[in-house]
Amino acid sequence: MFEKITVATDGSDHASEAIRIACDLAKKYNSKLHIVHTPQAIGDTLIVGYTAVPVPPTKEEIEKSGREVIGAAESEVREAGITDFTSQLVSGDPAHAIVEEAKAHKSDLIVMGRRGLGSLSGLLVGSTTTKVSQLAPCAVLTVK
Ligand code: ATP
Ligand code: MG
Repeated sequence: MFEKITVATDGSDHASEAIRIACDLAKKYNSKLHIVHTPQAIGDTLIVGYTAVPVPPTKEEIEKSGREVIGAAESEVREAGITDFTSQLVSGDPAHAIVEEAKAHKSDLIVMGRRGLGSLSGLLVGSTTTKVSQLAPCAVLTVK
């Protein structure tokens, strides 16, 4: 049913849950799995998982933090028993990056958290997930 699944991670616990469910579906449907992450520096703060580094980050620092997040996601996927997967670090707006990666990989499903690193605010659904649901050419599964 789902031949190609794209899973989006921002390094949050919500995204880990999305990875867990994406892996479960990939095993069930024998789907190809693709991991996407867009490293983001908000203002003068670099976000690395739940940690914020209070300096204007350089391009190299942003990429390094991105590789850490992708590396952690890859470990989670391997621990779930999947060895055949791809991953991509993409710069720019996360929602657009997720949708473009899903299109490029001809994914028929995108899996992501309902919330992410910004989950302390009052929103029920995060802005990245809201935007992806509007732009995606395929099904989007948002997980708690
Ligand atoms: P907001 O960012 O609007 O303050 P939030 O961080 O709680 O709220 P989202 O950003 O929508 O919510 O995150 C929801 C899900 O989107 C995450 O669990 C993850 O799957 C995906 N996501 C968010 N940011 C990124 C990113 N930079 N790269 C890849 N995936 C992301
Ligand atoms: Mg967010």
